[in-house]
Amino acid sequence: MLEVRSPYTDEVVGEVPKGGADEARRALDAAEAALARPLPAHERARILDRVATLLAEREDEAARLICAEAGKPMKAARVEAQRAVSTYTFAAVEARKLSGEMVPMDASKAGEGKLAFTLRLPIGIVGAISPFNFPLNLVAHKIAPALAAGCPVVLKPASATPLSAGFLADLEREAGLPDGWLTVITGSAGEIGDVLVDDERVRLITFTGSGPVGWSLAERAATKRVNLELGNATPAIVCPDAPDDVAAKLAANSFSFAGQSCISVQRIFVVGDGWDSFVRAFVEKVEALKVGDPADEDTDVGPVISESERDRILEWIESSHGEVLTGGDTTADGLIRPTVIANPAADDKVQCDEVFGPVVTLTKVSSLDEAIDGANATRFGLQAAIFTADIRTALDAARRLEFGGVLINEAPTFRADQMPYGGVKASGNTREGPAWAVREMTEERLVVLNL
Ligand code: NAP
Repeated sequence: MLEVRSPYTDEVVGEVPKGGADEARRALDAAEAALARPLPAHERARILDRVATLLAEREDEAARLICAEAGKPMKAARVEAQRAVSTYTFAAVEARKLSGEMVPMDASKAGEGKLAFTLRLPIGIVGAISPFNFPLNLVAHKIAPALAAGCPVVLKPASATPLSAGFLADLEREAGLPDGWLTVITGSAGEIGDVLVDDERVRLITFTGSGPVGWSLAERAATKRVNLELGNATPAIVCPDAPDDVAAKLAANSFSFAGQSCISVQRIFVVGDGWDSFVRAFVEKVEALKVGDPADEDTDVGPVISESERDRILEWIESSHGEVLTGGDTTADGLIRPTVIANPAADDKVQCDEVFGPVVTLTKVSSLDEAIDGANATRFGLQAAIFTADIRTALDAARRLEFGGVLINEAPTFRADQMPYGGVKASGNTREGPAWAVREMTEERLVVLNL
């Protein structure tokens, strides 16, 4: 068995079985048998709806589990549990809507006298690999659309946070999911990942996590579809005419779950004269955040996932050439205090890499062009934001920011689960959100009738 420990207290909060290649292959045997007994769409939708209901009933329990294994403050854990309900609800809608389309055959001479349409069929067995930071909702974003699409899943959750995945699998079983449609395997990432890559029965790998792991899976699984949702170094641009609540909004979204969200605000570019007033308001809001035990209902910022991550983040802060305006050290219980760094060098790690910790940089720029160039000066491209009262400026930036999503007058951390969500450049190659994920997890079969 593998122990799961609280990142805050280091107490054991659960145990999971240690699986490997043999278990992964047995899970694929079960998935293959499931695929041979397809479930009709109404049945898949009914199970998804039932999971949404069961999860809503047990939202508090789910939030406590997320908090225990990930060290996510209860405030944020509750939001995650609520969002997972909506992920299942939207997946149920997609199961009911799934259909192909007509092809206008007589639009060409060659097509005259023929009728053609496409069927949308499940791609086959899905191998899913999920990260530690949203242990419930990012698992939901893989297994709920897969069921909507009619695909059995073998899921490997993050070793640090496997309990929420097990909880969700139990709910699916309780909702009536037959054997073989979902197997959660915990254990050696390398061994399980290798089976998902090498076994030809797996037709699609859906991976959320860090870039090096994701891109190497894509390289190795050249004959499969490999959908990657990876990291970011999330920018926000604050124009002189930004709404009054911009500092509060960005402060809250820079540090919830200690910055360990792929779209946590990391780099803020402040344009023109507003620098002094923005910095004052922002630092004041940051210093008002409550840092401490994630199980306390009023805690805003808890621990990062492990001691090694804490040490790495502190090193990155230490090596920055910017001025630390607040934070940069740890609390009595060893948590990194929310850290704000002004005007770092462009090649400081905190500015050009993904920090994945409670650190934000503020950069003073003289024009919007400079802000957009700064925001784009990263290999990542997941989500970005701009705050301005001018719709023309906002829409111009939406075109020029090289990101999968651009938020206007909203933190770049915002995500509703029905949105198409995903990145460009090093941030990935797909979009999640049930409607988009179902499209990825199905294939179009063309049918032509000669009349
Ligand atoms: P990670 O270290 O890459 O781990 C992600 C998953 O990959 C875990 O289940 C891990 O298993 C597994 N894994 C590790 N090595 C593997 C291998 N050789 N073969 C197959 N699987 C392997 O990422 P993380 O630290 O959990 O998550 C943080 C990263 O995820 C950040 O970069 C963040 O930005 C990104 N993220 C992106 C999104 C998005 O939607 N774009 C959302 C959330 C997070 P073990 O835990 O057992 O090592």
